[in-house]
Amino acid sequence: MKLLVMGPPGAGKGSQSRKLVKEFNLTNISTGEMFRQSYERGENLGIEAMKFIDNGNLVSDEITNEIVRKRLFEEGKEEDFLLDGYPRTVAQAKALDGMLNEMNAKLDAVINIVVDKENILERMVGRRVCRKCGYTYHTKFKPSHQEGVCDKCGGELYQRVDDQLESVRNRLKIYEEKTRPIIDYYKGRGVLLNINGMQSFEAVYRDIKKALRDIT
Ligand code: ADP
Ligand code: ADP
Ligand code: ZN
Repeated sequence: MKLLVMGPPGAGKGSQSRKLVKEFNLTNISTGEMFRQSYERGENLGIEAMKFIDNGNLVSDEITNEIVRKRLFEEGKEEDFLLDGYPRTVAQAKALDGMLNEMNAKLDAVINIVVDKENILERMVGRRVCRKCGYTYHTKFKPSHQEGVCDKCGGELYQRVDDQLESVRNRLKIYEEKTRPIIDYYKGRGVLLNINGMQSFEAVYRDIKKALRDIT
């Protein structure tokens, strides 16, 4: 299965993707996570990308398309994968179509998680991320057992610079301008699944699975 998970920042893409890749045995490809891990490793790519990310701006299409291409073609051909947070612009969606064509493949579903602005802001300010493994928590909705420490690996939890209010506002604006148009791009193809993200983690996941069952 080839899935794409989209939605505004903080919609729950990462949280739901984590469960989907496990249950359906998919390779998780999150461009945001790839940039953050590259930064943590001290690589040039990550350091350059973070200059855009911290302010809530997008990394260039060129760089982003390139890391996805590498992941899909060079590091072992992936049969089944889930793309989380890519594409984020129509130009990226077109580039992805090109890659899929080369693979002779198509997307099975585009899962669009719908959340309103109030929910987004509350989710973003409480989000905490593990510096070591990237696992995501929430101070109120999904606290770790021990404050500031990852349950999975013992790593340190931190607040992303781009989860601070100024950056979040910019990200929401960019989402509306650059990313929302992709919804229309996929709508006509009969692969778009709109999911109500303003429910518990479990209810959102249940709805995604139900929608996937209905189309397969
Ligand atoms: P969120 O889960 O909050 O939506 P991500 O972890 O997916 O955020 O991405 C964090 C940041 O990384 C984005 O705000 C953007 O700066 C950069 N980024 C991630 N994916 C892309 C992409 N496909 N194109 C451009 N920039 C990206
Ligand atoms: P995205 O990848 O779309 O930016 P995340 O999965 O990182 O979103 O979720 C953003 C924040 O909101 C995280 O702190 C996460 O724990 C929390 N969160 C995600 N889904 C839900 C939900 N259904 N209910 C409450 N909190 C949620
Ligand atoms: Zn961890």
